[in-house]
Amino acid sequence: MRRKIVAGNWKMNKNVIDAQQLMIQLLSYKNNHATNCEVWIAPPSLYLMMAKDIFEKDEIGVFSQDMSEHESGAYTGEISADMLESIDATGSLIGHSERRQYHGETDSHCNRKVKLALDKGLIPIYCNGETLEQRKAGQHLEVVKNQTEVALFTLSAEEIKKVVIAYEPVWAIGTGETATPEQAQEIHAHIRSIIAAKYGQEVADEVSILYGGSVKPDNAKEIFSQPDIDGGLIGGAALKLEDFSKIIEAFN
Ligand code: PEP
Repeated sequence: MRRKIVAGNWKMNKNVIDAQQLMIQLLSYKNNHATNCEVWIAPPSLYLMMAKDIFEKDEIGVFSQDMSEHESGAYTGEISADMLESIDATGSLIGHSERRQYHGETDSHCNRKVKLALDKGLIPIYCNGETLEQRKAGQHLEVVKNQTEVALFTLSAEEIKKVVIAYEPVWAIGTGETATPEQAQEIHAHIRSIIAAKYGQEVADEVSILYGGSVKPDNAKEIFSQPDIDGGLIGGAALKLEDFSKIIEAFN
């Protein structure tokens, strides 16, 4: 059985009071509801230790939104896999499209980050997906294949099983545009088949692949019901318990 996950990416939102309030609401929700999926959040890095304090029994997984490709040293502004391990974080998002767009991150960077995260016992959520131009040009399958191969195919079979992939078409992130469940399923099945071709079907069947891109309470159930979609990476709708909890309940 693959793990089923709903993960919230808070991006650069919320001051400390609002962040603390939402974490406390999430804890209370989690303690009072049986969920059929794991619930993870990626708050701004400034709030990671607070999140670890609030979710002291690991009720909710705590992820950074990025981490350095370097182990330590003169990299001002960065946080390392080692630091995340030292606060007992669950893992890190890697290669989010906003990191690629505004910070020049490439799949080679992602490859180093994914490996470093795994070496420290962290779960990498590796994000990929095509741009609108690439989709319009009919290149989406090829783009996602290349991304997956460059970022992940230096890993061993045991390592890749621990990676969570988030397919996030760039044209659907924060735009209100969602891939149809069929469009998302096509790419998820494609990613799984690429992994199967390299590592075997058994390994591919263990890799959780999340969909991200304008998932909302009213479309989550249909998206999550696709056979190769194992949950979602949620941006805007993760910022309010009311919406996020309905998305979690799409697994019920
Ligand atoms: C994201 O940032 O990963 C994301 C999917 O955002 P949104 O849900 O707002 O489209």
